[in-house]
Amino acid sequence: MQEKGTISIHTENIFPIIKKFLYSDHEIFLRELVSNSVDATQKIKRLTSLGEYTGDLGETRVEVSVDKDKKTLTISDSGIGMTAEEIKKYINQIAFSGATEFVEKFKDAGDAKEIIGKFGLGFYSAFMVAGNVEIDSLSYQEGSEPAKWVCDGSTEFEISAGSRTTRGTTITLHINEDSEEFLEEARVQGILDKYAKFLPIEVMFGQKDESVPDGEDKEGKPKYKTVKKDNIINNTAPIWTKSPSDLTDEDYLQFYKELYPFSEDPLFWIHLNVDYPFELTGILYFPKLKNDFEVQKNKIQLYSRQVFITDEVKDVVPEFLMLLHGIVDSPDIPLNVSRSYLQSDGNVKKINSYITKKVADKLGDLFKKERESYESKWDDIGLFVKYGMISEEKFYEKAKDYALVKNVDGNYFTLDEYSAHIEANQTDKDKNKIWLYANDPARQHTFTAAAQDKGYDVLVFDTPIDSHFINHMETKLENTQIKRVDADNINKLIDKDEKQELAISDDEKESLKSSFEKAIDNGTYKVEVQPLAPSDAPVTVTMPEFMRRMKEMQATGGGGGFNMFGSMPDSWDVTVNGNHPLADKILKAKTDKTKEKVAKQAFDLALLSQGLLEGADLTNFIKRSTDLLSK
Ligand code: ADP
Repeated sequence: MQEKGTISIHTENIFPIIKKFLYSDHEIFLRELVSNSVDATQKIKRLTSLGEYTGDLGETRVEVSVDKDKKTLTISDSGIGMTAEEIKKYINQIAFSGATEFVEKFKDAGDAKEIIGKFGLGFYSAFMVAGNVEIDSLSYQEGSEPAKWVCDGSTEFEISAGSRTTRGTTITLHINEDSEEFLEEARVQGILDKYAKFLPIEVMFGQKDESVPDGEDKEGKPKYKTVKKDNIINNTAPIWTKSPSDLTDEDYLQFYKELYPFSEDPLFWIHLNVDYPFELTGILYFPKLKNDFEVQKNKIQLYSRQVFITDEVKDVVPEFLMLLHGIVDSPDIPLNVSRSYLQSDGNVKKINSYITKKVADKLGDLFKKERESYESKWDDIGLFVKYGMISEEKFYEKAKDYALVKNVDGNYFTLDEYSAHIEANQTDKDKNKIWLYANDPARQHTFTAAAQDKGYDVLVFDTPIDSHFINHMETKLENTQIKRVDADNINKLIDKDEKQELAISDDEKESLKSSFEKAIDNGTYKVEVQPLAPSDAPVTVTMPEFMRRMKEMQATGGGGGFNMFGSMPDSWDVTVNGNHPLADKILKAKTDKTKEKVAKQAFDLALLSQGLLEGADLTNFIKRSTDLLSK
């Protein structure tokens, strides 16, 4: 019995087209074929449990093997199998009725996954790597005859009697010369590790050596011998498929290690589990953040019914959670359509906001129940929370109650707590509450100390996202301004309208100013003489808050139109304290040269206190100071 036929497509030859368009993703043929085998195996198991199949279920592994001499790769299962009729129906007719449309539509398409899924080409992806493909199958149905289908990648196929004696299907690929990489064990193992790691049916690929105990030697020491063991690729019951109530912390930590063998333990995790209005399971871990964010991105893996799909989870997971680790498994995400479609897909949107809500609730829970531990983790989770608050209004609404700020003494406050904490002392003459912060407390110590002397509190905002967070918070918090502690003299930062009298005359003020201007002799500094307390610093060098933010925005690529004018020049304010004894000393110096020398020294000291004195200026300053000491 032999039958020849033509695969029902209305274009000459689909396979060169498949090959041409799918070149970048050749390896997924194995995912498709193994998934088919897993599906067929699950079907027979289901039929058995429904009592519709009463034969012996037997071993239900899917076996992958390569034969380098014959140049074949084989995928074999004990699934439901197919009769000759079914092969003709499922394999030959498939979605190829739309082949002409397919060719037209995807002439310019680039994404293999897109095409494969859309046209149900799963099985046919085998022709990306094989010139000849055989199906040998025996259906579970009583009285079935084994059937064999052979196709050489043209539209011609042949069906004859098969040779399988047990239920199931064997697919044999005669690998093309230019695809011989798929005959290499390491390559095949790699692909299976990537796509099949958590498939629900055992997948076996050859055998591997394993060392097992083998009694004792003459001295009573344990002996070992090497034996061949079946090489099972997958963990068929990964923990995200189980119920959280059946799992311990240890289970979650162990699974994390399985996913990311070289990572530190995560801070905590969220088990996702919904079945309406979409199906989704998974586990998201909050990692300890390292500074290299890029390396940590794309660590979430997307699965569809335990088949690995991709680690590009953009759109499915909100942008601000891209640094999380873990697994999202959903059969409801349209994986095979283009990016723009994904963005507007209703399920994807729902999934995205579900994940956002779950994360927001989990954080709120931790904050309420374990504030101390939450605070200790804040330095790591703060980045997610701040990013989320900036980018998602819904998240902001929840997170504003448990987002924390930390002051230089290491105390944590919620936003409301902090507002209340500083209100009495840090409200200026216009009734604005002024939050002060340092982004580099060591460097800004002089300014911080000056603020603390006045009884003010200083926060620490030192992460990459903080400048954006500050901008955002100013739009949210009422009557509140957030100022870096070194942006001006502290009396100006929190202006309470407490006027100090200037102890020197107007002429003296002018003379003092000009001594400094000559001493500094540099256009980037603007000198002003101010009436401050004698105990305040004699000279301070500051960059106005507004100017600094502009520059920061520019540095991070923001700031819009300003970039058109090239980079902004530095601009610093030099405040000379006219009431400081040093001002008097400069005014009373005998020569202009001495005046300038002292002014220069005082100016350099101000720079030095902020770590702004560098290079030749620093060398000269040290030399001058040494000379002075030796006099
Ligand atoms: P899809 O899997 O998307 O339906 P495929 O082209 O991969 O598309 O497969 C077409 C059909 O062929 C399957 O739906 C299934 O009915 C049948 N089939 C493929 N592989 C097997 C197998 N190993 N065992 C039983 N049936 C199979």
